Amino acid sequence: MRIVLLGAPGSGKGTQSQRLVKNHGIPQISTGDLLRAAVANGTELGLKAKEVMEAGRLVDDDIVLGMIRERLGETDAQRGFILDGFPRNLAQAQALGMLLAELRKPLDAVVQMNVDYGELTRRISGRRSCSECGRVFNVLTAPPEEAEKDICPKTGGPHRLFQRPDDNEATVAERLRVYDEKTKPLIDFYRQKGILREIDAEGEVDEITRRLEEALRSATPGGRAAGVKKAAARKTAARKTAGRKTAARAGLKKTATRKAATKSRVAGRAGTKKNAKKKAGKKNATKKQTTKKQTTKKQTTKKQTRPRSSGAKAKSSAGRRRKARGKR
Ligand code: AMP
Repeated sequence: MRIVLLGAPGSGKGTQSQRLVKNHGIPQISTGDLLRAAVANGTELGLKAKEVMEAGRLVDDDIVLGMIRERLGETDAQRGFILDGFPRNLAQAQALGMLLAELRKPLDAVVQMNVDYGELTRRISGRRSCSECGRVFNVLTAPPEEAEKDICPKTGGPHRLFQRPDDNEATVAERLRVYDEKTKPLIDFYRQKGILREIDAEGEVDEITRRLEEALRSATPGGRAAGVKKAAARKTAARKTAGRKTAARAGLKKTATRKAATKSRVAGRAGTKKNAKKKAGKKNATKKQTTKKQTTKKQTTKKQTRPRSSGAKAKSSAGRRRKARGKR
């Protein structure tokens, strides 16, 4: 991961960089720290930088770029880095872009840490550094007993804390003015490159770290890949759930259809039976009626035949009698 933390003096770039070092195992490269070390060691470069720094102005680009080029060439920076306090103007940003393009290691993200100006001044006035371990902490936010006795939270030693010479009120005002004029335009510069993320850098330190990590996750290839993987996993899970639901619904439908089919079959059978019964009933009825009709017919025929035959008999016996009388 190769990132830049942008922000005004006192916005917490140093504090958050130290946390990212722990979390990601990549070095923090602070041009302010490198310059202070040069001043402390009394090198030629340090002697040149001292006066400018104490006035709150920017050290020459050539000096700073030389230091950065050298530092980025070191072994620990090959896995990635957190640039803190660099670049600080457009010329430095362009030079960094060219250097990283040469190395084929472009920036992954630039995070702008936004803090209100009143809060910046308050934070800077409370800022102290430990002469033993170099750790920076704030007497305004440190536990009261440590703040009172000037105890370094890391070494535990009292009276080893000092205020940076450029953290006095007059220099802070000039540093903020320089930030507005020279560094702020970098926000747009990186926004246009599509790698800028902004976070609200006010509030609890842990909460700011959480916001910063979140911004980096959304900006860095690893984070994006993880995000994409997560999103894909979420999609797959959603698809599976939807699939299960559809299957369940289909199952229900199938069951319902099966039930309906069974019902209709049963009903069908019952209906057929009923129909058959009905038919049978009808048939029987027709049969009965036919039989009845036939019986009636027979009876009628019988009835009709009997008088006719007795009449005929009577007629014939009368005829026979007449015939006999004629013969006689
Ligand atoms: P910092 O610790 O980042 O606030 O820096 C302290 C001072 O170092 C600044 O006020 C500048 O005078 C000088 N400095 C740090 N970084 C740069 C830089 N990238 N370009 C020029 N001057 C710088």
